[in-house]
Amino acid sequence: MFFPDAELRFHCTGCGQCCLGHADAHYIELAAGEAANIRHYLGFDKKKFQRDILVTLDDKGKGIKINAHGRCVLLDENNRCSVYPVRPRQCMTYPFWPELLQSEQDWHAEAARCEGINQGAVVAAAHIKKQLKLLGS
Ligand code: SF4
Repeated sequence: MFFPDAELRFHCTGCGQCCLGHADAHYIELAAGEAANIRHYLGFDKKKFQRDILVTLDDKGKGIKINAHGRCVLLDENNRCSVYPVRPRQCMTYPFWPELLQSEQDWHAEAARCEGINQGAVVAAAHIKKQLKLLGS
C-alpha cells in the first residue's frame, strides 16, 4: 500500500460517478445490518425491498442492484444518493479503499473515473486510516 507514505487529496464534487458500476462490479456491497437499515430508511416492506433494490450474490449474500444503465438503483435522478444517511460502508469510505491504495497507479487509474480524486486539500491520514478500519483493513 503506498499510503500512508503519500499524501492524498480528495474533494467530492457530488458527480455520482462512484455510484456507477465498474466493469468488474455489478452490485454495491453491503456489510452486516446495512440492508435492514436501508430498508427501514426507505420504509419498504421486505418483498418490495428484495425485488426492487437487492440482488442475491453467488454466495447467497445480498448487494444493491446496479440497473441496466449502470447506475446504483438508489442513485436519484439528480445523481444524489437517496439513502445517504444510511449509505453502505463501501460508499461512505470511497475512495479510500484498500484496493485503490495499493499503488499510485491504482489511485491514479481511479482518478480517471472520479473527478474529485487529486483535487482539494490533503486528507488527514487519521481520516483515511479510519476509513480503512471501517472496511476491516
Ligand atoms: S447506495 Fe447511495 S452512495 Fe452507495 S452507490 Fe448507491 S447511490 Fe451511491
